[in-house]
Amino acid sequence: MKNRLTDSQGRVINYLRLSVTDRCNLRCSYCIPSSQRNFIPHNEILSYEEIVKTLAVMAKNGLQKVRLTGGEPLVRKDIDLLVREIKKIQEIREVTITTNATLLSVHADRLKRSGIDRINISLDTLNPHTFEKITGKDELSFVLEGIQSAKEAGMTPVKINTVILNNINSSEIEELAALSIENDFHIRFIELMPIGSLNYYEKHKLSASFVKKTIENRFGELVRLNLSQLAGPAAMYKIRNSKGKIGFIHAMTSHFCAECNRIRLTADGHIRPCLLEDSFVDLKEILRKNADDKEILQRIKYALTQKASAHDLIPNVKTEMATIGG
Ligand code: SAM
Repeated sequence: MKNRLTDSQGRVINYLRLSVTDRCNLRCSYCIPSSQRNFIPHNEILSYEEIVKTLAVMAKNGLQKVRLTGGEPLVRKDIDLLVREIKKIQEIREVTITTNATLLSVHADRLKRSGIDRINISLDTLNPHTFEKITGKDELSFVLEGIQSAKEAGMTPVKINTVILNNINSSEIEELAALSIENDFHIRFIELMPIGSLNYYEKHKLSASFVKKTIENRFGELVRLNLSQLAGPAAMYKIRNSKGKIGFIHAMTSHFCAECNRIRLTADGHIRPCLLEDSFVDLKEILRKNADDKEILQRIKYALTQKASAHDLIPNVKTEMATIGG
């Protein structure tokens, strides 16, 4: 079929995770553990023009969905203007954003007006002390305000991403799941991935099946829901008679590589064909040489030939998640 991006395994790639910055205002222990971090210099970060040019080429070749991430996307200036520009690309059906929500109450209305289709908020705990322990900041109240602002701005359903960390927030599994009973939230439990420190991973990893069992022990058997095509890798359920949903993203204990439809573009213009592989292809290099659409497409297609059929069981990616774009 014409105008489709496919990789060497024949998988159709129609989803881009776009990291707009490697900077973040939090220091989550599993994501940006060190305070001594060297951020990418501003002039090495793709401009909005470079991003939009790349996305337009991809869209002509089957790109349908873009998720803005980082670092923290809301710390990049005028992020709503980027959303507006991406929304003008006709073929792109969905533009979404993943945020820690600390700045969301300021941005929610503007983001909604820019046409954003949905929002994912990262929230690992409801306890202010645990929040500070994980993120290094006493800002849980800002996140809760941010969630409220997203609801008020009509960015629903709000999807909440929770990484469950053994002996850090694992005692809160039931409480976090219970948020889906009275609210139209999708609470998605994500398995910790070995990105950055392998020691941390071994100490705090917990399987999604353990999390599911813990929820079922408290609330009864979860009801399985069907997924739509662009819904992503979460296995979705609900607590009986609840308003919201519960999802499990078992990146480590059960591979979904065969169905993978995504690639990543880092803030400094590297295409990363797989989150859990350290390899990348430099796109910025040719963007800065004024490459035309054909050359950009060629480079993207080359990156797709580098996409692994499946990642290792314990990949241990050296690059921090905040640099790759989660
Ligand atoms: N700052 C934004 C946020 O907090 O959502 C976007 C970037 S953050 C890297 C995106 C997601 O990646 C967050 O939900 C975070 O919890 C998740 N994440 C980061 N490191 C991870 C790891 N090692 N394993 C699993 N998820 C991780």
